[in-house]
Amino acid sequence: MALFAAMGNLDEKPSKTELSKDIEKIKCLIIGSGPAGYTAAIYASRANLNPVMYQGLEPGGQLTTTTEVDNFPGYPQGVTGPVLMEDLKNQAERFGADSRWGIASSVDLSKRPFRVIIDEKHQIDADSLIIATGATAKYLGLESEEKFKGSGVSACATCDGFFYKGLDVAVVGGGDTAAEEATYLAGLCNKVYLIIRKDYMRASKAMIEKVEKTKNLEVLYEHTTEEITGTNVVTGVTLDNKGKEVKINVDGFFVAIGHSPQSQLFTDYLDTDEEGYINTIAGTSKTNVDGVFACGDIMDSTYKQAITAAGSGCKAALDAEKFLG
Ligand code: NDP
Repeated sequence: MALFAAMGNLDEKPSKTELSKDIEKIKCLIIGSGPAGYTAAIYASRANLNPVMYQGLEPGGQLTTTTEVDNFPGYPQGVTGPVLMEDLKNQAERFGADSRWGIASSVDLSKRPFRVIIDEKHQIDADSLIIATGATAKYLGLESEEKFKGSGVSACATCDGFFYKGLDVAVVGGGDTAAEEATYLAGLCNKVYLIIRKDYMRASKAMIEKVEKTKNLEVLYEHTTEEITGTNVVTGVTLDNKGKEVKINVDGFFVAIGHSPQSQLFTDYLDTDEEGYINTIAGTSKTNVDGVFACGDIMDSTYKQAITAAGSGCKAALDAEKFLG
């Protein structure tokens, strides 16, 4: 799960004249505020590294857009994503972690201290850097999807589901996210279609069962989305079912087909795999640049769980502590 990003898509480096004159020197800078970032902050602050964390575009990361989290250890009754993130934040701040609003807009990792520009104006020189920028939602890439973003197309049911109370909606995707979004929306909406391109769901058994038990949720296997239709707002979706055109009437279209790693800012310096996930040395959070560590969904294309992100955040802080000596 990633978390979402603590960075902007800002390729241009600001000129020196735009930067404030004060350069802040930091021992341990953390970029990103999901479970990985906050766990790194907890461990780094307890190790007296005086960590500073920039929260990024989506403070709290992807969990702030989910509903119930039932699989994070320590919450026997489950917990909502926003509450879990607030708990992690409070825990980090209890030990002195300095978590701030702001987005990393450019970096120079070619030498130490590492230079990171925040919001295009504030320069930080960091002795060590922990990257926990997570991932962002993928879209299908249809023209009609682009057209209706914000007026019927969404990648976040918990953010936007409320607007579709009592209406009919569609969710596309066959993983846990799609299953979760679809069942959540079924609690609010009149009818939910779950559009899956294969003849099976990739989601966990527990989620598949939940989907199957939800009465107002209809799964459309082997359907692909051709077009989202409407004039000013979404009114329907045209699907393809093995060569046959199928039209459904819906007021909202939710995309839940996975996430892309938020690593664009670092790719001039750090090795990534072909999808953009930052490569780390097996069993560690170390990247190919000494003193730069990666944790959470930005380096994990496999597990992507809040708890695995938290575990890798712990590793990153311990690796940074060892590096700083
Ligand atoms: P996944 O990558 O697991 O699933 C993505 C789904 O979207 C797949 O069914 C995939 O289809 C489908 N898809 C991808 N591209 C397209 C496309 N262009 N058109 C149509 N369908 C498409 O992503 P998730 O976000 O669901 O989950 C990511 C990880 O997070 C997983 O490990 C999951 O278990 C975890 N997670 C855990 C939760 C929890 O524990 N509470 C909640 C949510 C997520 P196909 O199968 O054909 O490739």
